[in-house]
Amino acid sequence: MTAKNISLLDNFIQNIIDEDKKNKRYQGRVHTRFPPEPNGYLHIGHTKAILINYGIAVANGGKFNLRFDDTNPIKEEEEFVEAIKEDVAWLGVDWEDRLFFASDYFQELYDYAEELIKKGKAYVCDLTSEMIKEYRGTLTEPGTESPYRNRSMDENLQLFRRMRAGEFPNGSRVLRAKIDMSSPNMNMRDPVIYRIMKEPHHRTGDEWCIYPMYDYAHPISDALEGITHSLCSLEFEDNRPLYDWFLENLNCPEPPRQIEFARLNISYTVLSKRKLRELVEGGYVDGWDDPRMPTICGLRRRGITPEAIARFCESIGVSKSNSIVDVAQLEHAIREDLNRRAKRIMVVLRPLRVVIENYPSGETEELEIENNPEDESMGKRKVPFSREIYIEQDDFRESPPKKFFRLTPGREVRLKGAYYITCNKVIKNEKTGEIEEVRCSYDPETRGGWSADGRKVRGTLHWVSANHAVEVEARIYDRLFSAENPEEHDDFKLSLNKDSLEALTGCVAEPEVKKVEPEDRYQFLRQGYFCADKKDFTKEKPVFNQVVPLRDTWARIKARG
Ligand code: ATP
Ligand code: MG
Repeated sequence: MTAKNISLLDNFIQNIIDEDKKNKRYQGRVHTRFPPEPNGYLHIGHTKAILINYGIAVANGGKFNLRFDDTNPIKEEEEFVEAIKEDVAWLGVDWEDRLFFASDYFQELYDYAEELIKKGKAYVCDLTSEMIKEYRGTLTEPGTESPYRNRSMDENLQLFRRMRAGEFPNGSRVLRAKIDMSSPNMNMRDPVIYRIMKEPHHRTGDEWCIYPMYDYAHPISDALEGITHSLCSLEFEDNRPLYDWFLENLNCPEPPRQIEFARLNISYTVLSKRKLRELVEGGYVDGWDDPRMPTICGLRRRGITPEAIARFCESIGVSKSNSIVDVAQLEHAIREDLNRRAKRIMVVLRPLRVVIENYPSGETEELEIENNPEDESMGKRKVPFSREIYIEQDDFRESPPKKFFRLTPGREVRLKGAYYITCNKVIKNEKTGEIEEVRCSYDPETRGGWSADGRKVRGTLHWVSANHAVEVEARIYDRLFSAENPEEHDDFKLSLNKDSLEALTGCVAEPEVKKVEPEDRYQFLRQGYFCADKKDFTKEKPVFNQVVPLRDTWARIKARG
């Protein structure tokens, strides 16, 4: 599954579109957009909005625009524009030649504001921002009209032109829509549509010193681009009457319609550019693309594929009610995806040396092991075997607890794809008493890991031949937050999980690891899925990120129903 064939046909948005098509509204056209503000990096919440907008366009033979909502010069930067473009493209979304910026429309937006003034629908207000707030009233009380509300059209026009010419200081005046100070919808109480900000803009430089508000710029940008269905998240529901008001009062012939869907929230995660920015700037994580971050570039660096993200977004569906999705559901989608595509490889994370005493020293043989038991077409690879190997420390216990089926003195286990071995002896450090080495013997009749006499062993261990081992680093991740809903706390940073990263050095891998390139993904047998780090992986010093461990709690939750 990809961004192009994500199936979103069965939802309330598609039903509205079907109805519009039937009624020949917009001449049957479907044209959507994704309008990020370039004030940070995109996160997985945005992928839901992107895939809905793009998926709906593709499914209806329509068009999709990428538009930067760059109306606030203070918070926005070129770095974010470039990063967002890269992330959207990586998701498999193609905006073709339709890349736009709200700042491209600054002149049109200004002209429309003059039009509103001339129609008596907008006025220049000299109240301070605190006063405007006070005059707005509350949810239960109507607002109070500004004393500047009834300025003449001429005076408004002159003042607005002087605002634009830079004659007034920041914050001294604003342009407001003249709607209804007693509307039950607070957004309709004469909202501000222009403010004075003597700030250079990353695209228009010093050309402007007044900037339009999002609520004003957004519907007009949509209309200018011929957008038909403006799909956004639920928190914009109360802004819809204002969206419609602007287009109605500017005589837009066939105004686009805004449709809202539920925002994506995920447990143990924060999804807000502002908060993620705080983590980056405060040094709580190692940049926007830290593999623990829910940013698209973080997910990518962690090793998650665009297909897994599309699969996840399809599984959560499109609805109108907000909820928190269990992060296990995302992990489940990742495993389903990687299980099929990832080659298996043997890596021992915490090595314990095993000497196979009856195996000839100096000898090496090559065993053939399948690359992916789920997919025979992925073939087999050769894995060297010799007298000394490493196994996982956790796979050996001198005095085993109940139900421990791995190696222990006197017990026979299978080495994956190799032989049955039996533990004969444990070698300990004389001073510390720590286990240093385990001595075993193997049964030459069990080559390939099977016994002709049908005798069974319960444990199968992964292993790496000591002489052929390649040292690698494995970074094991836990959730970035230990609270299910970090945003419940006054300071979400208080619930950061201090143990969210464990870097294991001195892990050993089979020689196949020499073929790995950055961003390649593997299943480390019995451990989990790992991805060669995009930034830090080199052939000399291979570094892997754990994408997800193998155990799948979500599958169990689902099975329980
Ligand atoms: P943030 O609070 O993270 O900065 P935002 O809504 O301010 O998010 P924008 O760049 O303004 O970020 O958002 C672009 C689009 O992405 C909006 O149309 C918004 O509806 C959508 N969006 C943002 N967050 C989510 C989310 N968690 N789930 C679904 N859609 C989202
Ligand atoms: Mg925003």
